[in-house]
Amino acid sequence: HMKLTRLRLVGFKSFVDSSEIEIEPGLTGIVGPNGCGKSNLVEALRWAMGEGSHKTLRASAMDDVIFSGSAGRPARNTAEVLIALDNAHKQAPAPFTDAEELEITRRIEREKGSTYRVNGREVRARDVQLLFADASTGARSPALVRQGQIGEIINAKPEARRRVLEEAAGIAGLHARRHESELK
Ligand code: ATP
Ligand code: MG
Repeated sequence: HMKLTRLRLVGFKSFVDSSEIEIEPGLTGIVGPNGCGKSNLVEALRWAMGEGSHKTLRASAMDDVIFSGSAGRPARNTAEVLIALDNAHKQAPAPFTDAEELEITRRIEREKGSTYRVNGREVRARDVQLLFADASTGARSPALVRQGQIGEIINAKPEARRRVLEEAAGIAGLHARRHESELK
């Protein structure tokens, strides 16, 4: 697997200034008082993986992920999140297989939508989603558990619970890829 090594947020939700986080090997914990941005950080990760639904990001429109201003700080017009993955084992898809590292960025500009890049090259949202269409990663992966989601799973309808189990079994990514190949 390609390991997440670094995350950089600029203008995403409460992260108004550029914030960079190095992820060391092992377990990483993020702690802080209520409202300090812990959930925003996890949402930034999902957003950069190509999440298309603003609702699951607690935003009423996609532009609402952009820093909306605070006392003394004006709102921004753009937000950008960068995810760095270690590609030492050369598992990245072509044409990025030989790169040492993958830098995936999603950038949004008010009223103009999102653009995605991998190592500086512009790609489609779908390319980024497929890159992460894997049980252990991905914007909809069961590895990313939203606040309150445990209760939702317990109370879910059988089909919804089955989707969670399929994702946990690692076959949801296969469904996504099969669907993609049928479109071609
Ligand atoms: P808890 O411990 O209660 O779960 P948390 O650390 O997860 O808290 P978050 O939910 O990540 O906190 O952060 C909430 C904060 O982010 C709120 O203060 C909210 O105003 C701020 N916030 C959310 N969206 C934006 C935005 N677009 N611009 C500026 N601030 C924002
Ligand atoms: Mg939270």
